[in-house]
Amino acid sequence: MTTTETQQSSPTTVDLTRRRDELTARLAELQWDLGGLLYEMATRNHIRVDVLVRRAAVLQEVDGELGEVERILRMEETGAAGQCASCSAPHSSGAAYCWQCGQPLLEHVPSHAIGA
Ligand SMILES: [Zn+2]
Repeated sequence: MTTTETQQSSPTTVDLTRRRDELTARLAELQWDLGGLLYEMATRNHIRVDVLVRRAAVLQEVDGELGEVERILRMEETGAAGQCASCSAPHSSGAAYCWQCGQPLLEHVPSHAIGA
């Protein structure tokens, strides 16, 4: 166990995490809405497909954005986990060389962090 394992988040990650939470909540709300709407229509035996399709399109849009945000977050999580093999300095996902000792970082990327 290491004590240097910090869950340090960059501002973008924090932003995206918040956005993901917002989208997750909105998606649940839309799904709930759509289900309720369909139920209302069904009990009145009058299904308005055009209304449902419009609602579903909004839901799909939110779902798509949520997927994209989650994809970026996953990339940031795996990418930001880097640590210099020579001096143990943490580095950001895009760094090619250690800011502290100048060692190239890309060779030291652990293979289990790729394609996770
Ligand atoms: Zn280093």
